Amino acid sequence: MRFELTLLGTNSALPAFGRFPSSQALNVQENHYLIDCGEGAQIRMSEFGVRRSRIRQVFISHLHGDHVYGLTGFLSSLALLGREEPMEIYSPPGLEEAIRVFLKHTGGLSFPLRFIEIDTGRHQLIFEDGIIEAYSLPLVHRVPTSGFLFREKERPRNMRPEKIEAYHIPYRDIPAIKSGADYVLPNGRRVPNEELTLPPPAPRSYAYCSDTAFHEPLASMARGVNLLYHESTFCEDLREQAPLTGHSTARQAAEIARLAGAGKLILGHYSSRYKSLETFLREAREVFPNTELGLDGKVFEVPLEREI
Ligand SMILES: [Zn+2]
Repeated sequence: MRFELTLLGTNSALPAFGRFPSSQALNVQENHYLIDCGEGAQIRMSEFGVRRSRIRQVFISHLHGDHVYGLTGFLSSLALLGREEPMEIYSPPGLEEAIRVFLKHTGGLSFPLRFIEIDTGRHQLIFEDGIIEAYSLPLVHRVPTSGFLFREKERPRNMRPEKIEAYHIPYRDIPAIKSGADYVLPNGRRVPNEELTLPPPAPRSYAYCSDTAFHEPLASMARGVNLLYHESTFCEDLREQAPLTGHSTARQAAEIARLAGAGKLILGHYSSRYKSLETFLREAREVFPNTELGLDGKVFEVPLEREI
């Protein structure tokens, strides 16, 4: 029952100091989602054991090159591998036009692409499958930009096995009980659902916030999230510059994590002017202690609060 985030690229703008531009892979119960696709993302997938053929949805935050220049190479490789399954790509407007022109002149694909445009001004459900729901998170950047909140769907309640035995409950009645129904015994007595079941473990969640200036409403949109990735392009030495370029400092990222009551903060999208990242970590931890540096290849897991 995995909920696992692999960072494929954690730098901003340029690849530098062993850090590639933005890209991440999220594995929720063996369903695989790609988030942004900067240059070299597929190289990182090979290095870090992310199986690109398993990805069925790509979520692109915005159309700056450091978040999309890896996409055509990634799609092209899938075609070379003979993929036939469709790929869905969620992004702000404009990406479809750019990709289709590029593919028209560089060779087609062996599989259909389906583009879904995101309204970057709204916080709303944009995707769901049997496992997760994904919501857009309006961000404040120099072009239309959306973050993403991924949340597991609510699970059914868990049967208490000893109750099945005690009340001789037939198996055909179990799905209804797991959905919340009471059980009526042959003598007419009603056994309340709370006696027969345990609540399911809490759904796990991940919020991706890149790129953005400090934007306090993000904290309420990502309230209680288990994992929060928030861009931290700058340290406090460039605090004045951050909003002018539509970016945040590590301390501002930590402030959002604190206000949101996040479980853990992951920093990333570092400006290439910083070789060492120690200052990012120190400044963020002063505000939100459970902060970690995002680095290419790092994996963050959210365990279930208990086994099912
Ligand atoms: Zn950007």
